[in-house]
Amino acid sequence: MIPAAFDYVRAGSAEEAISLIGEHGEDAKFLAGGHSLIPLMKLRLAQPTVLVDIGRVSDLSYINDVDDHVAIGALTRHMDVETSELLTEHVPLLAHAASHVGDPQVRHRGTIGGSIAHADPASDLPAVTLALGATYVVQGADGTREIAAGDFYQGFLTSALEPDEMLVEIRVPKMNGAGWSFQKFQRRAQDWAIVGVAAWQGAQGAGVGLVNMGSVPILATGVTDALAGGASIEDAAEQANEGTDPQSDINASIDYRKHLAKVLVRRALTEAAA
Ligand SMILES: Cc1cc2nc3c(=O)[nH]c(=O)nc-3n(C[C@H](O)[C@H](O)[C@H](O)COP(=O)(O)OP(=O)(O)OC[C@H]3O[C@@H](n4cnc5c(N)ncnc54)[C@H](O)[C@@H]3O)c2cc1C
Repeated sequence: MIPAAFDYVRAGSAEEAISLIGEHGEDAKFLAGGHSLIPLMKLRLAQPTVLVDIGRVSDLSYINDVDDHVAIGALTRHMDVETSELLTEHVPLLAHAASHVGDPQVRHRGTIGGSIAHADPASDLPAVTLALGATYVVQGADGTREIAAGDFYQGFLTSALEPDEMLVEIRVPKMNGAGWSFQKFQRRAQDWAIVGVAAWQGAQGAGVGLVNMGSVPILATGVTDALAGGASIEDAAEQANEGTDPQSDINASIDYRKHLAKVLVRRALTEAAA
């Protein structure tokens, strides 16, 4: 449980962090809250030679009202997302889901940017921001670019981020009063989801994101296409497994996860409609 040896440098700004990552090459990694990276390092599943600590880049910790969306700095902690009045008013699904990430210690250290950049299909916030149609802003040595959440997740713990790019901002469309629900099925309170569902439905359409139903967070387009075609909630929920590829583990078999996905999508859509 002791990580391999590594060097440590602390960055004071995004620009400095990107320059340090470029200088140290592909074996360097950003360290944000450390709540996903450090456990992997302790198991020696990750062995970066250099950690570039971005945890104190305070100008990337913010939640701002910007026209039709809310802009969230990548270094914003889960606890700040959970307790944000702005998000509670305009993107309540995200604020609520953040309150279900781990326990208070995890939420005080972990960052929304770290959660998304880590691209773990079992994490809650990637699927939630995917369902909400978020855009991620990433910064590299040559400037910034925007990546739609739907194009970001490319494989297990693999994203569209280049090794020398940093996620700097998450832009989440305002929900404009749409109904929503977050269903997280877990063995014990504060555990990771065995399966999770984030759903919203309003005048502007609907979105459903699935947690832990494949190697990436999944947008359940079979469900939303069925709803758009006039299907009932019960019939739409039957499409929950389209495009999924869940794995079996100590908590659940593949069939149980597929069963859960249908049940939780039905519950989520029913709650959102209510
Ligand atoms: C006990 C425990 C329980 C947990 N339970 C849950 C849970 O129920 N649900 C859930 O969703 N999560 C859970 N988590 C994970 C937690 O949410 C993490 O905080 C989060 O997944 C990673 O955020 P971090 O800031 O800690 O990132 P780090 O661990 O610091 O980094 C994770 C990865 O992302 C990269 N990275 C970080 N920030 C950036 C950036 N801005 N740009 C580019 N790359 C970056 C790092 O290099 C690293 O590869 C749990 C963690 C623990 C320890």
